[in-house]
Order: sequence, then C-alpha cells, then structure tokens
Amino acid sequence: MSPSVEKKEFKSELKQILSLITHSLYSHKEVFLRELISNASDAIDKIRFNSLNNEALLENNKDWKIKIIADPKNKTLTISDNGIGMSKETIVENLGTIAKSGTKEFLEKLKDADAAARPELIGQFGVGFYSSFMVADTVSVVSRTAGDPSQGVKWVSDGQGEYTIEPVEKADRGTDVTLHLKDDESEFLEEWKIRSLVKQFSDFIEHPVVMDVEKEIDKKKTVEEETLNSRKALWLRSKSDVTKEEYEQFYKQISNDFNPPARTIHYTGEGKIEFKVLAFIPSKKPFDMMFGEIKVGPKLYIRRVLIMDHCEQLLPSYMRFVKGVVDCSDLPLNVSREILQQNPMLEKIKNNLVKSVLKNLEEMEKSEYEQYVSFYKEFGSFLKEGVYSDWTNKEQLSDLLLFESLKTEEKKFISLAQYVEQMPPDQKEIYFITGEDRETVVHTPYLELFKSKGWDVLLMTDPVDEFILPSLTEYKGKKLVAADKSEIPSDKEKEQQESQKQFAPLFDAMKAKLEGVKEIRVSSRLKESASCLVSDKDTMSAHMERMMQKMGQMDESKKSDRILELNVDHPVVQSLKKIFDSNAADTRIDAYSKLLYDQAVVAEGSKVKDPAAFAKLINDLLVQSAGL
Ligand code: ADP
Repeated sequence: MSPSVEKKEFKSELKQILSLITHSLYSHKEVFLRELISNASDAIDKIRFNSLNNEALLENNKDWKIKIIADPKNKTLTISDNGIGMSKETIVENLGTIAKSGTKEFLEKLKDADAAARPELIGQFGVGFYSSFMVADTVSVVSRTAGDPSQGVKWVSDGQGEYTIEPVEKADRGTDVTLHLKDDESEFLEEWKIRSLVKQFSDFIEHPVVMDVEKEIDKKKTVEEETLNSRKALWLRSKSDVTKEEYEQFYKQISNDFNPPARTIHYTGEGKIEFKVLAFIPSKKPFDMMFGEIKVGPKLYIRRVLIMDHCEQLLPSYMRFVKGVVDCSDLPLNVSREILQQNPMLEKIKNNLVKSVLKNLEEMEKSEYEQYVSFYKEFGSFLKEGVYSDWTNKEQLSDLLLFESLKTEEKKFISLAQYVEQMPPDQKEIYFITGEDRETVVHTPYLELFKSKGWDVLLMTDPVDEFILPSLTEYKGKKLVAADKSEIPSDKEKEQQESQKQFAPLFDAMKAKLEGVKEIRVSSRLKESASCLVSDKDTMSAHMERMMQKMGQMDESKKSDRILELNVDHPVVQSLKKIFDSNAADTRIDAYSKLLYDQAVVAEGSKVKDPAAFAKLINDLLVQSAGL
C-alpha cells in the first residue's frame, strides 16, 4: 500500500447496515441505480445553487449531466456527475458514517422485517449510496470539489467494514462512483436493462441521465450520447397532460414510498404571485415518519431550479405528511437561502397550500370515505396536532376529525358533524370521555346515564386527544363536555337537592375519613354502580393525570382532589345510611366509605393506593356476610 493510502473503519452502526445489505438483501437490488442517480442529481443541484452567488465555482462546466458508463470487459458500472463533488473530509464524513437519527430503531425494524420487505425499508430510510453493495463487491468513488482542482480524492471499499482513501488527480469537478459488479450481477451492464431502470425509477430527474450507445447511421456504426430520461417537470404541465401513472411514478420518486398516494394536488396559484404546486397526500405513513426526524415542507423550485429540498416556510409542521413541489417564478433566484426564507411571498403560498390540502381532505372525507378513514388511521394524529397549533384553520380541521363513539362499532368512526346531527332535541352538548382504550372506557360508570338516555358519547382514546381538548371546547356552537367531569346535566335536580340534604350528615362523616376527596355529592350519572369519582370542569382528568405520571411529569402528591359521587338508590349506599342513622360511630362506616372510594378509583382506571388494605376490607366483609 502506498504511503498516501489511508485505511479507515466504518462507524459501528454503518457496519451493521452494510452487513445486512451484503448478506441478506436478495430482491429489488436494482434500487441501487436510482439511489446513485438521485445522489448525483442532488450534487448537481447543490453546485448549481452555490454558483448563483459565485460563478467562478462552475469552472465553465455547467453542462449538467449524469453519465452512466458500462464496461463489460472490466465488469464495472460507473455513475459520473459534474455536481458539487466531495473533499477528503466530506467523503470521510459522508461515506464512512451514518449520521441519520433513528438508525438504531431502523436496524431493529430491519432485523425483524422479512427479507422481501428489506430493500423497501432501506429505500425508505435512505441508506442510498450503500445499497450499491447489493450488487458490487467493490465500490470506488473518485471525487473532486468545485473550485479546488488540486484536491481529488479516491475512496475504495468492499463494504466489509473498512475503506481506503487516497489523494488522486481528477481533471473535472464532480464524482464518479464505480461499481465492480458481483459475478452474477452482470445484467446491470446491459443497455436495455439500464434504459428500463432509468425510465422506471429516474425518469423525472431534472438533469439528463445519459449513456453512450452504439447507433447505425448510413450503415456505419457510431457511438452517440443519448439521454435516457424524459426530464419532465410534471408540475409545470397542465393537469390534462399528465397521466395517473406519471403522477404515481413522480410521487414514488420524491417520497421513497412504494405505495401510491391517496390524493394528488396539482394546481397553479394565480393572482399577485404565480406559483405551481404538485403535492401528494400519502396513503401510508412512510418510514421516515415512524423513525427519526421528519423534514417539513415541499421542495422549493424557482423557475425549475431546485432551491431547497424541504422548505419549512411553505407548510406548517403538522402537515409534514404532505410531499411535493412548489415552483414559484416570482421569487428571486440569486439571494441566499436565509434571505429567501424571509420573503413574505412564502407565507402567502403557504396559506394557499394549506387551504388546498384541507379542501382535498374534506373532499376525500365526503366522497371517498373508506379511503379517508384509512388515511385518518395513519395520519389522524397530525390533524389533531393542527387543531391545537393552527388557530386559523381550526374549524376546518375539527370537521376532519373522526372518533369512535359509544354507538359506533369498534374501529368505526363518527365525525363531530355526524354526532351533532344525531343528537336528540333534548341533548344540548357534545359528550366525550378520554381513556386508554375503548374496552376500558365503555365500561366505566360515567357512561351509565348516557346509556340510559340513549345519548352518544365520543370515545377519545388516542393519547393526543387530551391535548386537543383545551382548544376544542366547542363545535358549531355546542360545548364539548367531559362525561367524567362535574358539569353534566341532571333531569332530577330537585330530587337530587333533596337527597343531598338528607345525606349531608353521612357525607360529612365520610368526607372526614377520606383523603383526596373535596366533596361528596348525590350522583345523577350513576344508574348501576354505587360510586364514582369526578373532577371539576377545569382540573385535569384522571386519564391525563395518569399520562403525566407515566411521562414522569407529575408526582402523586400533585394530584387534584376529586368529587366522590354516590348513587343514593344503590343498596350499599342505602344500608350505609341506615347504619349511620342508627349509630354514627359504627366502625363499619369507615370501612364502607373506604370501599366505595376505592371502587371508584378502580372504575376510573386508576390504581388504589393500598391494594392490600382494599383486599382485606373485602375479605372482612365476605367473612361477615357469610356469618363466620
Ligand atoms: P443520502 O443521499 O440519503 O444523504 P447517501 O448514503 O446516499 O445518503 O449519501 C450520503 C452523502 O454522501 C450524501 O448526503 C451526500 O452528501 C454525499 N454524496 C453521495 N453521493 C454523492 C455525489 N455523487 N456527489 C456528491 N456528494 C455525494
């Protein structure tokens, strides 16, 4: 090894990924070409953008091009670009480590996935360059950065854990990635194969992907450079000129998602600012949304020049599921990204884009309900995030929400509008209950009144539901009321007040014995159960308290005191009153009070403070009632 060659090791997580790539990926190997072309295209976008402020960087070389060179004799395939290139430092950083967040989780998922699904996962995660080791036993990268002709670098690896790096001369700016193909992968050297792969995976890449092909002109064989991709900027064409297949293919290219999108949004914004939008609402949550950091915003082009891969100023964070392209011809090309990001036009385009995404979702909910429901199952929590973060569009967003309810079947939904429509005339408010899951909440005592009246209750069992409630206090003039809080209606207010008076001495005595109870009252909501705990309108629900505790954000002592409601028609409460009336000092009063309280704690889904004492109380009662 010559002294200028350095040997280096890949970082450990990358080693694991490489080992999975080389040893367990057998299908969809062809995605490597798409990944390498996409890297080359990104590199060209970068130099083109940087040169807007510094033309010298171009070295008179702006015939943007990605060239594929197949060499059957040496069994190599080279993808060459005149993009930004890499220096020794950047090549070590870019091709020796894996700097993505969520890599650990990704590795776990990859190990669990069946072999056939792995290339898809890899594609979605974007380990791009390294996918070349699926088909190559050695990969070499020769690169030189823009504006620095003295500094070429060569990187070589067999993907086994190490790579070498050495200085080389390279006349032109850019990067050549050369794959020495494995023995059984030589079909990737064939012209028809390369053609069809470029067409299938990289047709919309803006820069020409070219290859030298032999042609017969006037019976003479000549070699000509041919462009293999159509380079169509779909967003600039009119809707009627684009086929569904083209949209789908384009979506797959920009999203790395293998599923077709749920909805395609393609329009021209006209008026003071002119811009084109081609955006997609996915049907399935792509991989990057499950792991790692999600980048917000569509690609921003200015007159077909890619300025940013993700322009955060063009979409609110909760709409990070939307993928697409915005091209605005009125924005200035040669200003820095920082200055561009402050341009007020972006805000206007954003508002317009948000409205059309919402409109599309609305249409989908109305006319393609099944599809909307499956979208909602994947992305509903994003919309809920919008309800509390996007005040301007809150109403429209509330219309898009779906919930299970007491009356829906499991996993079936109802919208707020449908709920209101189905309310009987004497029901004035919208009722909901929050909790861990359907099974638990439908059986809580809180719903007894509603069941007896035949009123529906929304079941809010998604953890984010608690967070939207402070912003969703009303819908179309109807208040949203928690079924487990104090303010539900009563039809027997008079009787209740009467009972409250009768039971007051007992309640006072009980309250003195119970910790964490600020009031005891006659319940209007219980029909079968004897007791339940409710919180005041403005305090946290029990479910929220449990979530905060789980997240370590609240300790037991901070829990708010509750109101204990008792069902005065229940035999247990009635016997308790009898005992109390005949002897206020009877020790059973203490025991029964604690039992009624603990029962209520269990019923709301929380844990009793002292389970052993709870069990002992029950056992003592069992022994008594058996007369032993
Ligand atoms: P990704 O493209 O998802 O970032 P890759 O593993 O494919 O991941 O590439 C890692 C990095 O290497 C890229 O982000 C880029 O900075 C650099 N890179 C790869 N190919 C090229 C190229 N042809 N020209 C310049 N830089 C490149």
